[in-house]
Amino acid sequence: MGSNIVVTGAAGFIGSHLAQRLLSGDNTGENTGENIVVGFDNFNDFYDPALKRQNVVELEAIGGDRFRMVEGDLRNAGDVEGLFEAVSGPFTLVHLAAMAGVRPSLEDPLLYQEVNVTGTYRLLEAARKHSLTHYVFGSSSSVYGSSSKLPFSEAEEHLDPLSPYAATKLIGEQIAYVYHVCHGIPATCLRFFTVFGPRQRPEMAIHKFARFILEEREIRLFGDGSTTRDYTFVDDIIDGVIAAMKAPDGCRIYNLGGGHRITLLDMVRGIEEALSKKARLEFVPMHPGDMVHTLADTTLAGKEIGYHPAYPFDRGLESFVDWFTATGKART
Ligand code: NAD
Repeated sequence: MGSNIVVTGAAGFIGSHLAQRLLSGDNTGENTGENIVVGFDNFNDFYDPALKRQNVVELEAIGGDRFRMVEGDLRNAGDVEGLFEAVSGPFTLVHLAAMAGVRPSLEDPLLYQEVNVTGTYRLLEAARKHSLTHYVFGSSSSVYGSSSKLPFSEAEEHLDPLSPYAATKLIGEQIAYVYHVCHGIPATCLRFFTVFGPRQRPEMAIHKFARFILEEREIRLFGDGSTTRDYTFVDDIIDGVIAAMKAPDGCRIYNLGGGHRITLLDMVRGIEEALSKKARLEFVPMHPGDMVHTLADTTLAGKEIGYHPAYPFDRGLESFVDWFTATGKART
């Protein structure tokens, strides 16, 4: 039996992978061939909207009449109402549309607030008046901040977001809780740890560094290269999102990470190796808002939803570089 699933941000990096998997049923071990997916996105120009349009063309080819894309903005009540009018029957809502990115949020915090906070309220207000059965929210490892203990655990009490973006994600989790308590909507918040793979956003480090290496441009590294990230391959993230869609009732938070920590310098060396080309590096001071280290404790997600990340960093990087060199999409 298939389900009705609304995916906001479906034209973007993670959203398009999720919609693709839901429509094709690949690797889920289940017959999901009957899923109906309704995507929502405003195709904004945070990065080249042509990349997002191309993602949707691919989804339309896979999904046929089981996929429908609604173009609209979370900030527009009419657009959001129109989204739910396009859905028939009970549905799961996976909310991935957002202004993403730590550094740009320092430049325009009000935009992040309007889209990620006000837009999330607007979405849930409309959804609860239709037949919403489960809300899944795309949160971020950035909610942990600098005083959280490594590896980051969902039980951590010291959450101190270091950027406007991170603050909006923490508020997003609190909004999910409020809708659970006030309106009885089962909610699952997923803290994604630096996601990478084919279609990764062009301004994210792995994608940007690969482009700069090919173009022989200098890469600015913030800090001395020893900062670390838990990089998570996008297929693992999609496994986690799909598993979370079946999470038991309640209001839950899960880390979705790769479970390994890679230094910034090792990440650059990995890209150099995969591209067989050397990077030109310039070291500059750390940027405000940036976290020093991230690492997910995924024990809870493993126990409760069966999340077990399978991709070693090197294999994920190879997959990214294969896509990057084959499509040339990065060079925009
Ligand atoms: P993305 O920018 O590729 O996707 C987000 C999509 O939301 C875009 O297609 C964009 O057009 C759309 N969108 C933005 N504002 C909108 C609005 N006002 N109305 C409708 N649509 C709008 O980013 P992504 O990397 O795929 O991230 C997806 C989600 O996962 C985001 O919520 C992000 O905060 C979260 N996240 C991502 C990462 C990561 O490493 N990529 C890590 C942690 C959390």
